[in-house]
Amino acid sequence: MAPINPIDHNQGLSESEARYRALVTATSDVVYRMNPDWSVMRQLEGGDFLTDTGKPIADWMAKYIHPVDQERVKAAIAGAIRTKSMFQLEHRVLTADGELGWTSSKAVPILDDKGEIIEWFGAANNISDRKQMEEALQQAKEEAEQQKRLYEAVASNTPDLVYIFGLDYSFTYANPALLNMWGKTREEAIGKRLLENGYEPWHAEMHEREIDHIVNTKETVRGEVAFPHATLGRRVYDYILVPVINEQGEVESIAGTTRDISEIKANEQRKNDFISMVSHELKTPLTSVISYVQITQKRAAENNDQVSADMLTRAGKQLNKMTNMINGFLNVSRLESGHIQIDHKPFNLALLVQEIKEEAMATIYSHKVLFWPMDEIWVNADREKIGQVFNNLLSNAVKYSSTGSQINIACIAMGNDVQVSVTDEGMGINPPDLPRLFERYYRVKEAEISHIAGFGIGLYLCAEIIKRHGGTIWAESEPGKGSTFYFKLPVMEKA
Ligand code: ADP
Repeated sequence: MAPINPIDHNQGLSESEARYRALVTATSDVVYRMNPDWSVMRQLEGGDFLTDTGKPIADWMAKYIHPVDQERVKAAIAGAIRTKSMFQLEHRVLTADGELGWTSSKAVPILDDKGEIIEWFGAANNISDRKQMEEALQQAKEEAEQQKRLYEAVASNTPDLVYIFGLDYSFTYANPALLNMWGKTREEAIGKRLLENGYEPWHAEMHEREIDHIVNTKETVRGEVAFPHATLGRRVYDYILVPVINEQGEVESIAGTTRDISEIKANEQRKNDFISMVSHELKTPLTSVISYVQITQKRAAENNDQVSADMLTRAGKQLNKMTNMINGFLNVSRLESGHIQIDHKPFNLALLVQEIKEEAMATIYSHKVLFWPMDEIWVNADREKIGQVFNNLLSNAVKYSSTGSQINIACIAMGNDVQVSVTDEGMGINPPDLPRLFERYYRVKEAEISHIAGFGIGLYLCAEIIKRHGGTIWAESEPGKGSTFYFKLPVMEKA
């Protein structure tokens, strides 16, 4: 290296100092001066960001540069010195507040007339906010990526079909199970509508109308659909379509999952067939026993054998109970396989209630059953099935309340409906059980009633019958005080 001319060098240095002062006044950034090999920081004006040096310091690296970045800074310095070119780096610093900050630092070498470095002039600005935003963005990206991987893993490994529709009814996502079922690649299927993905017109139309409904109402749609599968034959699917709502509260897409329930359906069918077969088989001998008991009872009465006649009356009652149970099972299996028919015919509800009242007076001695007077109310309904609903509610009121208590039955016209209520003074029902009473085979699990026989099908049948009449059924109850079961049916319009 050529020896530096001290005069020229010093002159150069004082010129450089003057320029540095001008820079300090002209900029709001951090400005600094370093000796030629950066071993000494001659001066640093830190603004609000870094602490001023005051006098030249040799331990500037420890004072300003974050330990993690020191090696990077050293490497950049070495490169700049070697090439006598600009030092440029974004790195972390320890700020005047003792916090961690980010700076973008640039320094240029000031050369003397021999081309040797006299010193370095640097300017650095505070980029902490930008870096923080970048870091937050990066973190958000990583989290989004991770979430995506997570959802992908779930959606790719479920046998269920998972998919998303855009508002133009085209698929924007289909999981591997669905692509597999279609026998298509992602590229072939995405962006296409149902019809283009091989759905039959009725089926495509049905889902597109459901999508319209979801977009308009933001409601979830659940349904069951059966259609032929290319290799597996006829399959039954259960599907749920839900709206995906954006920040503005609008539906931005529709997410769906579909499950193949063919096996479950087939098992249910087998169970129903079994119940139906057993019930039929039990009914035949039961009918014979009932008629033998009736004949024997008659003969006992004729022979003035009162003891036998009474016993046979009791046997008859038990047989009736058995018949009702078996009929209940038969009805459930008919209902499940869609064989229940509602035979709509106009009739006067008051007359049906009168019949039920007469029967109740003849058979129920354990309770005070009070039928409230009612007006003539005409309904267009299945008389026998509505009678079944009355009987079910009445026999439950008897079953689940103590002997001697009162049961009230009332029918009131309310606008376009008639509301029927059956109120008892029994044990009542706890609130969590109330909405579930109408489920098939649901029974309350209370020690108090564990001895009361039943299969949890009576209310299910009532609910199905009322539903099929376009009516509603529900229960209200105060535990310990009693319950009221209500149903509403549309009344016939007066001609
Ligand atoms: P079952 O009486 O054969 O069990 P139901 O479907 O008729 O079946 O009734 C379902 C359940 O609802 C019953 O097990 C009982 O726990 C409850 N329940 C029905 N009616 C009443 C009532 N009047 N009071 C209290 N609990 C009742």
